[in-house]
Amino acid sequence: MSQTMTAQGLTSIVDDLLAAHPPAATDPRTFLGARFDAGLAWVWVGRDDGGRDADPALQPLVEARLAAAGAPAPFRYNPIGIGMTGPTLLSHGTAQQRTAYLRPLFTGEEVWSQLFSEPSAGSDVAGLATRARRDGAGGDWIIDGQKVWTSFAHLARRGLLLARTDPSVPKHAGLTAFVVDMAAPGVQVRPLRQMTGEAEFNEVFFTEVQVRDADRLGAVGDGWRVATSTLMNERVSLGGALGRGDSGPGAALLAAYREASERGDGNAVRRDEAVRLWIEANVNALTAARAAAGGARGRPGPEGSVLKLTGTEHSKRAAAYLLDLLGNAGALIPEYRMTRPDLPLGGDGPRDAAQMFLRSRANTIEGGTSQILRNILGERVLGLPGDVRVDKGVPWRDVPR
Ligand SMILES: Cc1cc2nc3c(=O)[nH]c(=O)nc-3n(C[C@H](O)[C@H](O)[C@H](O)COP(=O)(O)OP(=O)(O)OC[C@H]3O[C@@H](n4cnc5c(N)ncnc54)[C@H](O)[C@@H]3O)c2cc1C
Repeated sequence: MSQTMTAQGLTSIVDDLLAAHPPAATDPRTFLGARFDAGLAWVWVGRDDGGRDADPALQPLVEARLAAAGAPAPFRYNPIGIGMTGPTLLSHGTAQQRTAYLRPLFTGEEVWSQLFSEPSAGSDVAGLATRARRDGAGGDWIIDGQKVWTSFAHLARRGLLLARTDPSVPKHAGLTAFVVDMAAPGVQVRPLRQMTGEAEFNEVFFTEVQVRDADRLGAVGDGWRVATSTLMNERVSLGGALGRGDSGPGAALLAAYREASERGDGNAVRRDEAVRLWIEANVNALTAARAAAGGARGRPGPEGSVLKLTGTEHSKRAAAYLLDLLGNAGALIPEYRMTRPDLPLGGDGPRDAAQMFLRSRANTIEGGTSQILRNILGERVLGLPGDVRVDKGVPWRDVPR
């Protein structure tokens, strides 16, 4: 890491970018491409990967200055790519893979999906059954199997797939990660409707899909390590993205309470709850800042699991509170058509309170349930005795399922 790139140096690069490509007059994808080329995508990596070899602690400064100037946020165009698969490529991708995939991922030209969960492998994702076998000795790979709950697969050009390459060893040891072309023959994406009415996620079927060995991410059998880095980034990304108001953590809750009081619906209990939720939101924001500093080095720490647990439990409580403030009106659902969002994060308009409430129920499931996060925190952070594991050390193919 270069010690020479100062905050002042980065600020002037940001200002040059903004002057050459004023956000209000520039197509978002063009702006994001120029930002990548200026080395402002992930400042701590090298120039070829969209960085400046700078201290990762300087990234928030870049984000804040760009946001204040109205620059497009890449997360909005490619949430899984920016939050999860991009950091995984930075940590585990070959130079060739990083060159091919990072720039279009950052600009949102290639939306990414995460192909981990299966019908019988969600919390126990290491038990998955999708098979990858060699197409001839040392050659490319053939994938067969099914994934489920794959967010944005209907928009995705690329997917980060976890597959079983060796059934004869215990479950974690027999996995390998791949980059898959979602437009390849044999990939079929079908919508799954959620209780919000939207089909934001999908089931994805793989029938004899060919993947080049050059698109293997990490070593054969090392897929669990690759997946763990994706999951840790996911927890930071999901936990950190939730519960933010437009003018700071918890601001939307206070504004909603103020509005309710003006209508005559305020009382001491509701005010107390608004302030309690506001404090929670601000504590989570501080945890998010610590977790982001770890994530910036490609090594998110246990804060990611703390943040995912507390951030998502908070977002459920906050959504329920906002609905409660609306009284009977909150129970009305104005629209229940099945829609498939064509822009990740549901387009530009805000969701109504009822839809936000329904969507919030998924927050404590996606990216690891609250129960699983408590297990992780208990075992890995607090050093408590482990969960019961009847398949420990048993070859995957001998585990009853
Ligand atoms: C909106 C949404 C988007 C998603 N997007 C994606 C995606 O893009 N890609 C992807 O791969 N996956 C995605 N998922 C899937 C998600 O990761 C899984 O739903 C999640 O990991 C839980 O797995 P499961 O649904 O199979 O539930 P199960 O694992 O069957 O769990 C059922 C219940 O049992 C509990 N439980 C299970 N094991 C234990 C244990 N050992 N100890 C205590 N309790 C336990 C769980 O907490 C849960 O309450 C998404 C899910 C949602 C809701």
